[in-house]
Amino acid sequence: MGTASRVIVHADMDAFFASIEQRDRPELRGRPVIVGGQPPRGVVAAASYEARPFGVHSAQPTVEALRRCPDAVLVPGDMKRYARESAKIRAIFERFSPEVEPLSLDEAFIDLTRGLRALGGTPLEIGRRLKDAVRAETGLAVSVGIAPVKMAAKIAGDLSKPDGLIEVRPGEVAAFLAPLPISRLWGVGEVTEASLRGIGLQTIGDLAGIDLARPDPRGPRGVVPRALLSLLSRLQPLSRGEDDREVEPEREALSYGEENTFPDDVSDMDRLRDALIGHADAVARRLRHDGVAGDVVRVKLKTSERLARPGRYRLHTRQETLEAPTQDGREIGRVACALLERGRLPLPLRLVGVAVAGIRPASASIGGQMSLFEKPKPVAELDRALDSIASRFGAGAVRRGGGGGEKASPTLGVKRGEG
Ligand SMILES: [Mg+2]
Repeated sequence: MGTASRVIVHADMDAFFASIEQRDRPELRGRPVIVGGQPPRGVVAAASYEARPFGVHSAQPTVEALRRCPDAVLVPGDMKRYARESAKIRAIFERFSPEVEPLSLDEAFIDLTRGLRALGGTPLEIGRRLKDAVRAETGLAVSVGIAPVKMAAKIAGDLSKPDGLIEVRPGEVAAFLAPLPISRLWGVGEVTEASLRGIGLQTIGDLAGIDLARPDPRGPRGVVPRALLSLLSRLQPLSRGEDDREVEPEREALSYGEENTFPDDVSDMDRLRDALIGHADAVARRLRHDGVAGDVVRVKLKTSERLARPGRYRLHTRQETLEAPTQDGREIGRVACALLERGRLPLPLRLVGVAVAGIRPASASIGGQMSLFEKPKPVAELDRALDSIASRFGAGAVRRGGGGGEKASPTLGVKRGEG
């Protein structure tokens, strides 16, 4: 698989919006700060570390956040300012490698593999340099995880917060993952977690350790229903640190996307639609989180047809421009499914994705009536409920249209100079 030689960095700004406010308004430093919309309809977009011990977190209704932390200072968000900061940070990342895959305004994967020699230094030294550059040029803290595979890099970065730096070396990935709760694994939402715990798998290492080829009647496999077996064999490589997903820099205009590679090539339309609907929900959630909306829905359909270059497959994209920008998962899902069904299909597919482009601040798109980080009235209640569940249990926990449960990996494309 050749993953052992890769050096992948996950960089994620700490409490991004709230930290910008604390930097720019010294009177807020050391105080609990909530960036979000006004009650009764507003939601939390970011909470400073001082607010988090009170149980304040993003996507929570502001009313609830202020009930938990009455001393918090509520700051209305300034998306334009945050987007400028985001562009500055992305430019710093790109000095380290052209291979930057943004995941949101404040989070990205950076592939250092090819540039490592030119940069001069160990991965850990370069990670330190990246943190120092961000600190020196923006005054903000970024947490950094380094690993040979994406999932481990992200988990390392998350565990290092705040303002941390953790490297997982080649050969150490499985040992790093083993003691972590099974819910940390990509693709394990609330439902899957319950199933896995139900057969005695608590940690990632528990899953990595079972031998699916040689069932032990006393062990988990003896009581695993057939349906769970396919899930286990799908998740097990990841639990052992085998993950060949590449860092995918995108050079198109700003877009928010989610996609998944199926464990097997898929021709079943219900399963394809189910995956698209799940992706549409996830994309919509991120659009709402960032206070933006978009009017172009795009689907990405990768066939199992191999191209001459090793590891490359034929990719088809189809898109549709809506009458008005949206951040509504149902609408995005409806359009994505229509695009899937439009014209002759290059079945079977090995990957499907949904992206929304034509991004603009959500407030502008609702005729200025909606303040930033507030949900537009007609769209809202179900989506708000989904956001709140997803933020508590992870995006895999909720899904609007049935339980396909395909693993999604988020993408965000930003053209240089935008976003
Ligand atoms: Mg962050």
